[in-house]
Amino acid sequence: MKSILPLFIFIDACGWEIIKDQPFCNTVAPNRRRLESVFGYSSACVPSILSGRWPDEHRNWCYFVYDPKHSPFRLLKPLRWLPQAVTSRRIVRRWLSKLVKVQLKFRGYFDLYNIPFQHISLFDFTEKKSPLRPRGMNCGANIVDFLEESGIAGHVSNPTRSETDNFDAVLEDVKVGRIDFAFVYWPDLDGLLHREGNQSPEISPKLRGYEERIRWLIAVAQEQYEEVRLYVFSDHGMANCDTLLDLKARIEPLPLRMGKDYAVVYDSTMARFWFFNERARRMVAETLREIPEGAIVPDAELERLHCLFPDRYFGELIFLLREGVLLVPSHMGERPIRAMHGYHPDEKHSYAALLTNQPIIPEDVTAIPHIYRLMVRDALLARERNGSQRPSEWRDKSRIPVPRGAPEPIGAFSARVGVPCVEGERR
Ligand SMILES: [Zn+2]
Repeated sequence: MKSILPLFIFIDACGWEIIKDQPFCNTVAPNRRRLESVFGYSSACVPSILSGRWPDEHRNWCYFVYDPKHSPFRLLKPLRWLPQAVTSRRIVRRWLSKLVKVQLKFRGYFDLYNIPFQHISLFDFTEKKSPLRPRGMNCGANIVDFLEESGIAGHVSNPTRSETDNFDAVLEDVKVGRIDFAFVYWPDLDGLLHREGNQSPEISPKLRGYEERIRWLIAVAQEQYEEVRLYVFSDHGMANCDTLLDLKARIEPLPLRMGKDYAVVYDSTMARFWFFNERARRMVAETLREIPEGAIVPDAELERLHCLFPDRYFGELIFLLREGVLLVPSHMGERPIRAMHGYHPDEKHSYAALLTNQPIIPEDVTAIPHIYRLMVRDALLARERNGSQRPSEWRDKSRIPVPRGAPEPIGAFSARVGVPCVEGERR
């Protein structure tokens, strides 16, 4: 029998406001804490949890950026002649996204969303690899790299498989006690909340289903491990969208040309602008200041949120909506959805949650990137107590091995092992 199984279960969008009045996991993981999220979408939050670093360090922030020089989408430009009634349809977009993903050999999640084909060759897509895979970060290392490098036999969910398949896979590994660490990722609650909103009667049954799975997993684990250290956590919450804002209709009438004077990506809850002359910068900023549904995020605030990029790779000006307002139409969708995340982390529904059976959550665990520290700590402890070390397949023999039981600082490890950090080229 092994000593410890650290079991980390990530439920996407299972925010603090969703669970705070629910009995969810209150016997298996009674110790709860509200955690600050990371500014951005899952494209920013998930890599932050997986790496213990913030967007200004790992450079996984928003999906699309203005970068015509590196745009892989030139092949789609002829599609701009098709009528919008065809090109804006979700089914057409999904089919094209699959085709493009294969063609461009993207390894992570990819969707063309609603980016107009007329402008698509101005943009690059920033998540070409999956952050849940080895060397999957844009910059630095993730937990998969850490497990590999430390010779720890870990199980990490495969993002291309369904929740049920991933559950069955972890169950198999736990049943025979062949792992010393597990990271399970369940994304379906996020989809449910986007569709139905944060007051949906479907939420409680969904949470009960998750809890049943967790109990089952623990029961199976207890036959192979003396102690299961359970952590159930999320990346953000979900806010209902009751106000729609057509920002495009305010920007496009300005005497400015997209691609010549400025470029913009309309995300669901923010718009990110790049400017090619001062006149455009001034006119857009003046227009945005007149819109009460949102505000320009000052650089000092972006810096505080660890989302200020000195090369302005993700945008020179960020206009963020207040909670509950949705950009429609946007480059993410033509039609409204019931609920969204990606607002300021201080907004009520942005907060994430951590639930554990451990009596003490360290005081400095206050935000979602800090979950990484718990993962590293418990994985090393399990390696030590379980007395097993797996030879790493790709570990470079010339590298200095990680000293047993003594984790090096996250930044040092990340720089030594992960993907080298290269800033985007300044335009
Ligand atoms: Zn989502």
